[in-house]
Amino acid sequence: MRSWFLVTTVAVPVLLSGCVVSEAPAPAPAPPGQDLSPDGQASNGDGYAFVHTRDNGEPVRWSTCDPIAYVVRPDGEPEGGRRLLEQSLERVSEATGLEFEDAGTTEEAPAQRRPLHQPDRYGDRWAPVLIAYSGPEEDSRLKGRAAGYGGPAYVSVSGGTPRYVSGSVVFDVEQMTSMGGDEAVGAVMLHELAHLVGLAHVDDRGQLMNPVLYGREVTDLQAGDLAGLEELGAGECYDPIEPRSIRGSG
Ligand SMILES: [Zn+2]
Repeated sequence: MRSWFLVTTVAVPVLLSGCVVSEAPAPAPAPPGQDLSPDGQASNGDGYAFVHTRDNGEPVRWSTCDPIAYVVRPDGEPEGGRRLLEQSLERVSEATGLEFEDAGTTEEAPAQRRPLHQPDRYGDRWAPVLIAYSGPEEDSRLKGRAAGYGGPAYVSVSGGTPRYVSGSVVFDVEQMTSMGGDEAVGAVMLHELAHLVGLAHVDDRGQLMNPVLYGREVTDLQAGDLAGLEELGAGECYDPIEPRSIRGSG
């Protein structure tokens, strides 16, 4: 069986935007974008930023003609979590125009170098987005104050447009539920799902994409978040890239 997670020469998948949700009032001054992935973009002053930007300034996007398939590993799901997740997916869908497709449940555990092609588990297609509930014991990315992380993975072919094909969203259940009730949990979900479609952190504490959520009243998408999501949804219907057409390294 061939299994791979890094694709040589033609793709640079799997970059995750970590998220910090402070347990206490914001440490002052918090280094801006302290947990951004290395090539995350700094805020452009419009209240939003993209996780991956191409040379021409356009963000990397999901294809507009295929729904974003996702699977949920439900173990540890907080009470009401499914409903809150669906509401958050709906909000991101409304804001971007992108659609999500429920591809069922999974037993797959989150992993830092998650294979993007897992034919034994998901068939011969890009692995669906993994949404999982976890904690620092299982996933070291959740150590410290992180209530979750989320991010897209992209592939590209030579001369073609890079596009997102998969991703991961992982919640630290203990952290997210200790922040408050449904509204706080929903805010974390919405924040991580916004990462999944390509939105990065901003310094502006008036936006949901500021990495520190605790103790703030921002629990829904704000003007900057919405503008960024709208841009991320304004992509194209890309010709599909088949996983088997890309040679892996593993
Ligand atoms: Zn974040």
